Amino acid sequence: KEELNIIQGALELRTKTVEDVLTPLSDCYMLSSDALLDFCTMSDIMQSGFTRIPVYKNDRSNIVDILFVKDLAFVDPDDCTPLKTITQFYKHPMHSVFSDTKLDVMLEEFKRGKSHLAVVQRVNSEGDGDPFYEVMGIVTLEDVIEEIIKSEIVDE
Ligand code: ADP
Repeated sequence: KEELNIIQGALELRTKTVEDVLTPLSDCYMLSSDALLDFCTMSDIMQSGFTRIPVYKNDRSNIVDILFVKDLAFVDPDDCTPLKTITQFYKHPMHSVFSDTKLDVMLEEFKRGKSHLAVVQRVNSEGDGDPFYEVMGIVTLEDVIEEIIKSEIVDE
């Protein structure tokens, strides 16, 4: 029974898209690029429990960097280090995908390495103005795997 479910999940990877499994921008835990890594901010980051945190500039839809929590290993909260200092030092590459990317393609991309988190965008051509790229949220390898096994992975 369980196996059948997994096979079904695997087959659906070809039809489902990133849009079906993403974490919407409004639910994303993010930091502003001009944040200071003081005690308050750092404990907040630790409490969020996330490994990778998108960093936005001015507007939450303008993601400019990804902070890895492990980047904070050598940061002393007493120094109130600007977040920019850390992101400019590590410069993790940011991956973007379109919301209509099929999950099997997404899985291959994640398997190829680099990052297991991607920023999801779409072309917004509604309204009168010119079409523009709109950030919808983020997707991680875990979101794709959950789709295969068809059940929530409870985080540690
Ligand atoms: P983590 O290692 O941080 O727990 P995972 O890659 O295991 O992240 O993803 C677990 C779930 O949390 C996924 O649904 C993913 O979309 C979501 N997620 C990952 N990072 C964030 C974040 N910064 N804010 C909100 N949700 C996130």
